[in-house]
Amino acid sequence: MTGKEYMIAALEEVSRVIMEHEAVLNRLDNAIGDGDHGTNMARASRMMLKLLPELGETRDDMGAILHQVGMSCISEIGGSAGPLFGTFYLRAGMANRGKTVMEPADWVASFEAGAVGVSQLGMSAEGDKTMLDALFPAGRAMQEALEAGKSFQEILAAGAEAAEDGVEYTKTIQASRGRAAYIGERSIGHQDPGATTIMLMLQAMHKVAVEMKAE
Ligand code: ADP
Ligand code: MG
Repeated sequence: MTGKEYMIAALEEVSRVIMEHEAVLNRLDNAIGDGDHGTNMARASRMMLKLLPELGETRDDMGAILHQVGMSCISEIGGSAGPLFGTFYLRAGMANRGKTVMEPADWVASFEAGAVGVSQLGMSAEGDKTMLDALFPAGRAMQEALEAGKSFQEILAAGAEAAEDGVEYTKTIQASRGRAAYIGERSIGHQDPGATTIMLMLQAMHKVAVEMKAE
């Protein structure tokens, strides 16, 4: 069971890691898109680092914290990633409305609800070479780990590993959604920036769970 302390710390680490990878994410997006994914996500991360301490002090409802993060993503991040990442957090928030603590199962359900929200908004599916190629496999791997009775830390490790595999997979396929779809076959061989962001998120969440001994 984790409370808002873990959530705030994890989202802060996610924000820091994304900011550290701003140039890498821009470079990945430059190869198959318009080169702004790092800039977009770094802007959101700076906003999150301001917002999170305040949310930690004023809110106990985990769903409300996620909801606020989602709303801020939508207003702060440019491009298509704003509404897509915003929707991810809004759906995760909806799944946890009124909860002051979250069980590992709640975290897994949040990822799955978020992934479904992104695919509905983006009219996209696995195999389109988007963030969904990291999100859905991570959600499945976490669900399997949960059902196998694994710890929260092990569940996040399984999610991060599946997201890493998902990122590798995006290199092998052609984009059929997002800007990368415009370049068709030439998108093959390049990894998807949005999927890379999801991988970084899960790696950061896992790291903080280990550091805080979150269960
Ligand atoms: P933009 O595409 O507007 O420049 P970003 O560069 O910030 O926005 O984000 C690009 C990422 O968004 C892609 O790498 C991909 O993972 C994700 N993405 C784009 N379109 C979709 C979609 N329809 N469904 C899911 N994810 C998408
Ligand atoms: Mg872009």
